[in-house]
Amino acid sequence: MKVRYILPAFEVLRDESKCVNCRLCERECANGVHSFDSERGRMIANDAKCVDCHRCVCTCPTGALKIAETKDVYRSNANWSRAAIDEIYRQAESGGVLLSSMGNPDTYPEFWNRLLINASQVTNPPIDPLREPMETQVRLGSGRVKIERDENGRLKTALPPQLELQVPVMFSAMSYGSVSYNVHAALARAAKELGIYYNTGEGGLHRDLYGYGDHTIVQVASGRFGVFREYLDAAAAIEIKMGQGAKPGIGGHLPAAKITPAVARTRMIPEGSDAISPAPHHDIYSIEDLRQLVMSVKEATGCRKPVIVKVAAVHNIEAIASGIARSGADVIAIDGFRGGTGAAPTRIRDNVGIPVELALARVDDRLREEGVRDNVSIVVGGSIRSSADMLKAIALGADACYIGTAALISLGCHLCRSCHTGICNWGIATQIPDLVARLDPDEGARRLVNLVTAWKHELEEMMGCMGINSVEALRGNRLMLRGIGMTESELRLLGVKPAGESM
Ligand code: SF4
Ligand code: SF4
Repeated sequence: MKVRYILPAFEVLRDESKCVNCRLCERECANGVHSFDSERGRMIANDAKCVDCHRCVCTCPTGALKIAETKDVYRSNANWSRAAIDEIYRQAESGGVLLSSMGNPDTYPEFWNRLLINASQVTNPPIDPLREPMETQVRLGSGRVKIERDENGRLKTALPPQLELQVPVMFSAMSYGSVSYNVHAALARAAKELGIYYNTGEGGLHRDLYGYGDHTIVQVASGRFGVFREYLDAAAAIEIKMGQGAKPGIGGHLPAAKITPAVARTRMIPEGSDAISPAPHHDIYSIEDLRQLVMSVKEATGCRKPVIVKVAAVHNIEAIASGIARSGADVIAIDGFRGGTGAAPTRIRDNVGIPVELALARVDDRLREEGVRDNVSIVVGGSIRSSADMLKAIALGADACYIGTAALISLGCHLCRSCHTGICNWGIATQIPDLVARLDPDEGARRLVNLVTAWKHELEEMMGCMGINSVEALRGNRLMLRGIGMTESELRLLGVKPAGESM
């Protein structure tokens, strides 16, 4: 007798009075949850296959479906949560490392919601963004240059290369392979329209998207997938990925099932085998080694492109950032431990790293103390959910933010956290042609443009209420923030005063 240890996490609730047996849910669900029972003449569901992606709920023409989390499956136990028990059953069955995707879902404290923004009243009046100009443009890159002129007053100094953003937000690294071609096409089109950048991640750049190079950041990761001269030349900036918030200290893993011929061609790897990038770059064991790679990339591109070094937010992030600021890099990207991923070992994702809010505040402080803050820009990602998070990040010291999960949600992602299976009913984290086709790149680009445009309006509105008319004046302006419900050490680490304490 086959015993089923793990009970279904979700229950499909079908309102029989509304269902017209059109079987659309059967066609829309690639997990095979729904089927038609011809003997009983009605639709039935296999709850055990449901991942709660909501595709059937959102497409059912009669609104007949609901998905509910099954409650009270096990006797309640303060020590043993249902997830902990199910994970043990799963490992006892497979003997393998647990895999998961998207960001850390656990209930660790987060700080964005415990930071409050100041507003101007009476003496320093607010600014009305509908009637007065607001500056949301930012430039990323080294700002430290000694200006020299020749005897005729002409500028002799070669200015360092910079990225210019119309809004202080960019689409973070998501590789072709982990997400579909249509996602990349939507990101590229949206980045161009918005005057910002998207990031290829470690999977190379599809030939068809070279035309968007002026709005593309290409990544050089430990596996060097898809990296060659033309790839570097095509980009506006190059990001060296040393770490990722969702999986600090380990490499990437794209299962063979997601490596289609086009993905293999773009990554320059064989078809049919897993693409595993190593944990370290095999040529980097010190800041000096990192500096060599930064300089090699700069030389290879005629020193015309800014170089970003991306690291995960970890315990000694200040010292790491201090080294990066001296490595010749133009931008430091810090990815927090709630950042998303297409696939990561669950234990690493949920237990390694620190919140990006703390990492950002400490790095900004450290670089200022050492007088090297102007050597580099700081970009943060890994939990930015709204324009308010973005504003708070800038006030804590960031120049701009990366958004990944928020961008995917705008494309339809319902955070079912099953990207690593390769089946995404929303056509995002999949390479299955029928599923990929569900995401129209033009419609996707429109939604991404709308999202960032809405955030830009909200940013202007919030800056206006603070009496600030430029992102430049907001950056590092921690006096504009107050902490609520935080310990003294958290306030000290973030460098903000408690709510109620005046200027
Ligand atoms: S899509 Fe809705 S109406 Fe059609 S079979 Fe499924 S539940 Fe019934
Ligand atoms: S991208 Fe797709 S598979 Fe991944 S969490 Fe979102 S809806 Fe689920």
